[in-house]
Amino acid sequence: MSTRKYHTLLLFALLLTSCAAPVVQQDTLVLINGTLIDGTGSDPISNAVLVIQGERILAVGSQEEVKIPSGANVIDLAGAALLPGFINAHVHFAFNEQNLKAWAYGGVTTVRDEGITSSGTLEEMMSWRDESNQRPQAARLVSAGYMLTVPDGYGDLFVTSPDEARQKVFEELDAGVNLIKISMEDGYAGQSGLPKLTDEEIDAILSAAHERGALVSGHITQAEYLKPLVEAGIDDIAHIPYDFVPEEVWQEMVSKDIYMTPTFTVFRNYGAPVATCVLNLRNFLEQGGQVALGNDYGGGPGEFELGIPMYEIEQMSRAGMTPMQIIIASTKNAAIVSGIDDQLGTLETGRIADVLVVSGNPLDDLQNLHNIRMVIHNGTIIRDESQE
Ligand SMILES: [Zn+2]
Repeated sequence: MSTRKYHTLLLFALLLTSCAAPVVQQDTLVLINGTLIDGTGSDPISNAVLVIQGERILAVGSQEEVKIPSGANVIDLAGAALLPGFINAHVHFAFNEQNLKAWAYGGVTTVRDEGITSSGTLEEMMSWRDESNQRPQAARLVSAGYMLTVPDGYGDLFVTSPDEARQKVFEELDAGVNLIKISMEDGYAGQSGLPKLTDEEIDAILSAAHERGALVSGHITQAEYLKPLVEAGIDDIAHIPYDFVPEEVWQEMVSKDIYMTPTFTVFRNYGAPVATCVLNLRNFLEQGGQVALGNDYGGGPGEFELGIPMYEIEQMSRAGMTPMQIIIASTKNAAIVSGIDDQLGTLETGRIADVLVVSGNPLDDLQNLHNIRMVIHNGTIIRDESQE
């Protein structure tokens, strides 16, 4: 660009700014008078002030602590609650613009795709993800690559030795996947006896991923296959077993800080005993277990909720989780298993501003999560019911 053109543009920009005189800090948004539930588990703060500048949280706290910057766009949220944008930590078919928009509009501002199936190359998929993540209206996409298994096993990427397992993990990470997904599945929906990864292959996968700082999520549906993954030190378990899990496995899982993403919805859809899953979750919680929200959207036949997966939330409640524990599972803990907890999952200073605003208090009644008043994603208001 020539200097003269630049000067003309600059002058034009200055004229525009002076026309918009009253708005001094156009990109500062302040939410006041709502009840803040910040996702950390701290007590809620009534009449909170949340200051957002650009895509980040500039300040957050009580009205005594946080000063409202002059010239900011101030929105009064009396009667509403502010929470971190929800995270669905187990979905499929997230490489789909419509699905991502529906999730974000429904208050789920991030999803973790737990295993892709595609005819495209991994590189193409990951560049699609990066482009999609620039769009404010689309939920942020965090993605595993192809699910690792053995030939004829349950999954999409086959390994036949520990060395090959390491190599495949590095190939996936080099292509830009956010995490590694593996499976230990004997078979369901009429199948059984599927071949599975050996202990040595599991160890090779975990050490390769951890060397690169990547998380590994493990698919299981039965207690028998939970044990080897817990012993190996996996990061999170996708699906709670639908058969009884012995107490010592839960204890080891808790002592190793391994999270559980239950996915009751897919079990319901397959006709598996959800009551046993609920009982397992209750036992895991009794040992001090940490839970993350995920419904396995698209991971089988039947209905799955886009937006906030209320069926999951209802089953967590049945298992004895308090509304506060469920909110933590849906925000902070789902961010932890997605590997994004340094940026997201809580409403704290410096974090990316993904905010869900609902009418009423979900700590009094989780059904209030249905009453979405506003959704903010990357600091941008993408849904505002008071304007519609
Ligand atoms: Zn799945």
